[in-house]
This record gives sequence, C-alpha cells and structure tokens, in this order.
Amino acid sequence: MNIGIDVGGTNLVAGLIGDSGEVFFKKKQPTRAREGYETVLGRIEDLVEQVMAEMRGQSPESVGIGVPGIVSADGKTVVSCPNLFWENKPLKRDLEGKIHCPVYLANDATVAGLAENRFGSSQGCRDAVMFTLGTGVGGSVIVGGRVVNGVHGVASEFGHMIVGDGLYRCNCGKMGCLETYSSATAVIWLAKKRIEEGCETEILSMAGGDLEAVNAEMVINAAKNGDAVGLECFKSMADHLAIAISNLVDVLDPEICVLGGGVAHAGTFLLEAVQKSTAERITYKSLVKPEIVLATLENDAGLVGASCIKEYLYD
Ligand code: BGC
Ligand code: ZN
Repeated sequence: MNIGIDVGGTNLVAGLIGDSGEVFFKKKQPTRAREGYETVLGRIEDLVEQVMAEMRGQSPESVGIGVPGIVSADGKTVVSCPNLFWENKPLKRDLEGKIHCPVYLANDATVAGLAENRFGSSQGCRDAVMFTLGTGVGGSVIVGGRVVNGVHGVASEFGHMIVGDGLYRCNCGKMGCLETYSSATAVIWLAKKRIEEGCETEILSMAGGDLEAVNAEMVINAAKNGDAVGLECFKSMADHLAIAISNLVDVLDPEICVLGGGVAHAGTFLLEAVQKSTAERITYKSLVKPEIVLATLENDAGLVGASCIKEYLYD
C-alpha cells in the first residue's frame, strides 16, 4: 500500500492506494491560486497524517506526489510549476523531514498516463499518449511500454506546445501554448472576454450574474445548448486540442490517445468533436486511425499514478 497525492490547481487529494490500483479512501482539501509553497506543504503534511490515522498502525511503503510541473531528473526538486508559481522547491527533502516516510515526486500528467496504462483505458497498449485537461494542460507519453521523460526530465509538456498565435500570455511566459486554448482556465478566459464585450449568452445567468463564478462546466453546458459564446469557446478548445493530437500522431503514431482531467467530463460531446477535428488533420489519414478515448480512472488517475511512482520511475 502506498499513499498517492495529486496536487491540482483547485484541489489537493491524498488517498491510500492498493497494489492493484484500488483506492481505499481519499482525503481532499481545496487549494487557492498563488497559495505559496509553505502553505501547500503544510496541507500535504496534514493530508498524509489524516490518511495515516486511518491506517490503524500500518505504514505506507511510500508517499508519491504528482506535481503540476517539472521534477528534477533525480526526483528531489520541483524545478518549475507555472500555475503554482513555484521554482526550485526541495519538496522531497521538506516532506520527508515532516512525515518520516520515503517521498517520490513526478509530473502529475506523466503519472496519470501511467495509471491509465496500468489500470485504465490504455491498459495493454505499448504506445499511448494522454492529455490531462484541467487548470493547465499536461501530457504523458509511453513508447514501447516505457514512460518517456526526456534527457532533462521535461518531455511530454503538451500544454506548452505552440498551436496558435495566442489569445493571452501563458504562465510559462510564451504565447500560443495549447494550455491557453484547451485548459479550463482558457475556456473560462474566453467566455469572460466575450461577456465583457457584451455578447449575448446564457453563461452569465448560469453563473448567477457573477462573472467571477463562471466555470468551464457552465461554458460547455452552454455549448451543448447551442449558445453561440459557449460554442465558440468549446470549438476553440476542441480544435486546438485536435491540432496538438494530430501533430503527436504524425510524430509518434501511437496506438491510443487518452483524454482526462476535469474538462474531459464534457464526455462524448468533447470526444466526438476532437475525434472529428483530429481525423481531418492527420497526414496519413487512410493509414493511421488512432483511437481517442476518455480516461476511465477519471479523477483518480493522478492519485493512483502517484502511488506507483517509486515502482515505475525510480526503481
Ligand atoms: C505544467 C505541466 C502540468 C500541467 C497540468 C502545465 O502547466 O507545465 O507540467 O503537467 O500543467 O497540471
Ligand atoms: Zn505555456
């Protein structure tokens, strides 16, 4: 048994995970934007203690943490988390000093892809990619059954692939990143912009008239209802995601492409739009028909994957 922790943009979730990916129980805390490293560290410690308290004297073998950014190749430091505004944080050392259990770190999307590959929708596939669509956009690449981390540990950063001229500057500093089109943050940004411009839309009333309460689910539901602003935001999200997927298909020719993260809850509405838009963009259309599917572990992929870090990435 291991403890898996998913450090997300809106929630911090810790769970006790069995060796076959079973989630025995979970504990959750909300996170706030720009909350600062020390505060999040304290919250993680608190969650680990809550999970351990339920283990009745048993100890976990390890604590694995999926972080929304880059981890150094030695697995000790969070080098950069653009959406948490963290740079060079020695999370392994800091947490091990508090909880007296081995701590393993890896990128959140890499571990989500690993979990889907071991226990979920890409099980049995030796070549699989996964996109996580949430506050940011993350990615995972598995080739020949192995996780691709790159020479510097920064491979599969799909969210920062440039797929357009850009609507606003990404937290990484660049213009045109996929994350600024296809994340929940991007969908909300575009919807709010159109509302501020005075466009006719039902999204504002869905949010009770409060612009700050607009969320990605409302925008997608508006799109499902045929609302023009909802449809524009949804199309921008799906089409830019399709550009990224078709580029990856041209480069890697994977067996399967998994879509996960909160935005993927848009379900078949998103899936069908992305499948169609991707198929139009692949170069060898007649030969290559990648399967694009939704993650089956849903919100647990990050947790379950984090619990496998030791075994898969550092053993
Ligand atoms: C980060 C990735 C992360 C993704 C999802 C991106 O902004 O650069 O490392 O996987 O967000 O959290
Ligand atoms: Zn970026």
